[in-house]
Amino acid sequence: MAYLGNPSRTRAVMEKHGFVLKKKFGQNFLIDDNILRKIVEASGVGEDDFVLEIGPGIGAMTQHLCEAARKVIAVEIDGKLIEVLQETLADYDNVQVINNDILKMNLNELAEKENDGKEMHVVANLPYYITTPIIMELFESHAPLASITVMIQKEVADRMKAGPGSKDYGALSLAVQYYSEVGIVAQVPPSCFIPAPKVGSAVVHLERAKAPKVDVKDEKLMFDLIRAAFNQRRKTLMNALKNSPSLSFSKEEIVAAIEKLGKKPTVRGEELSLEEFAMLANII
Ligand code: SAM
Repeated sequence: MAYLGNPSRTRAVMEKHGFVLKKKFGQNFLIDDNILRKIVEASGVGEDDFVLEIGPGIGAMTQHLCEAARKVIAVEIDGKLIEVLQETLADYDNVQVINNDILKMNLNELAEKENDGKEMHVVANLPYYITTPIIMELFESHAPLASITVMIQKEVADRMKAGPGSKDYGALSLAVQYYSEVGIVAQVPPSCFIPAPKVGSAVVHLERAKAPKVDVKDEKLMFDLIRAAFNQRRKTLMNALKNSPSLSFSKEEIVAAIEKLGKKPTVRGEELSLEEFAMLANII
């Protein structure tokens, strides 16, 4: 089967199968083969590697992944696409398509069963309606991951790179920067998709950090503090932590911890770096 990454082939496959795009599944298919190749190249996936693709669509990126990798598991929520993928991926014997919601899967079990528990690479043109939950699940599941290379909204890519003082800085920035090294690989215009999304897109490559980036004794507490701080980002850190239903520290304990961190009582969470959130968790 010829490569699918162009408008006429993509339309022909959809027409042949009577496939109608579903907005509710974030179906914006890539129709530019150069971008598809660039994503696979940026992933660094080689012939010994195992790849998890989230949302293969009609298989335009899956074709390139099958050619680059040892084995590809592609998880697609839309049952109607499974018969399409059977045809478009018929030439490849190193791919398995699973009809499921990626957020309902146990990624540790998948890695164990399909890759002897060894590290996998995630590569995807993500459905934009659940980008953040997918990224958080990939990291927080602590599944063995070497890297994540994904197409996402440009605005979300900017949030991943942001630091203290920027309006884009938030819980996602801190989580992604804690777990990985973030690189923006390419900016992609709406015209490269069917249908064209209303927003610009970017490809990011997240290389899983080999060693912890900061010294934190209780990772969960640090992320509870981060979420509380950014849930009420216009409030002082003290008030945001005091008001949070998921934390139970007294005002005195919070004030003492902020002071020990060397910050003023009026400091806001958005002014703290990853190291400072880690220190705060260790102190408190
Ligand atoms: N990979 C294809 C491409 O690049 O053209 C399609 C990408 S499209 C942006 C997102 C794909 O993810 C769609 O095929 C959609 O059906 C699928 N999808 C949406 N939600 C999903 C979920 N929760 N689990 C698995 N796949 C999902």
